[in-house]
Amino acid sequence: MEKVDFSLNGKIALVTGASRGIGEAIAITLADYGATCILVSRKADALAEVAEKIASRGGTAEVMACHVGDIKQIEGLMARIRERFGRLDILINNAATNPYFGDMIGADEAIWNKTFDVNLKGPFFLIKHAAGLMGEKGSGAIVNVSSVNGVKPAPFQGIYSITKAGLISMTQAFAKELAPRGIRVNALLPGLVATHFSKAIMDNKDVHDYAVKMIPMGRHADPREIAGVVLYLVSDAASFTTGASFVVDGGALA
Ligand code: NAP
Repeated sequence: MEKVDFSLNGKIALVTGASRGIGEAIAITLADYGATCILVSRKADALAEVAEKIASRGGTAEVMACHVGDIKQIEGLMARIRERFGRLDILINNAATNPYFGDMIGADEAIWNKTFDVNLKGPFFLIKHAAGLMGEKGSGAIVNVSSVNGVKPAPFQGIYSITKAGLISMTQAFAKELAPRGIRVNALLPGLVATHFSKAIMDNKDVHDYAVKMIPMGRHADPREIAGVVLYLVSDAASFTTGASFVVDGGALA
């Protein structure tokens, strides 16, 4: 038997939301294992700092700013990637927003539109364009970062949870459509992870204690603990894995 291969040498990987948190940890990990990472978020300065960290570890990364809720910017990004690299091997749809905390009946259309544009429309059109590039060489791997909230909606996070459920469905639908082109599509469902995104929970001791009580392992995760699953899913080690949802939540959904 050949050795199971986790190497990403020679692969081009696009990671959205790479300027901090889980996306940063994923980008660093993919670069550690040999991929050239295209770092995407709205803020080029923050991405440049991540690119420097990757370079200091001996990896390679390039910064390409893009608002993933804006189709025109996605088209520009993909055109840049085609011109610069002529290929794409890996897409990580990690960027997301959660602008509203409250009862769904109190939400307005602007909140709905912003959450759906960034969390669902962006990933959909990124996959559509990436599939074109990946399909030309007959292989590719896509990971959509959903959430345990996509399976079990969290209180006061209804609209966000609906988008994360939609992302799981999008993963399955694209997995079936793209399998004949050699492109695998999987979803990752993190539980509570210490990042800017979860700051409201992390900074409030009572809320954090309550949240952690729901987690059998009795703690939140560090972003680094999420990145290993992504490495598996985009590597040849996962060559028979598509349309799946991987839960990394310390047992919360069990
Ligand atoms: P984070 O630290 O707040 O990072 C979010 C990233 O998304 C940032 O890089 C941000 O960069 C980028 N971003 C936000 N809006 C964007 C837009 N319109 N266009 C492009 N980039 C945008 O959050 P995180 O916790 O790492 O979250 C990463 C993913 O994990 C998300 O999909 C989230 O839903 C999921 N998740 C997180 C947790 C958790 O407990 N933290 C749990 C379950 C799932 P800029 O501000 O530079 O644009």
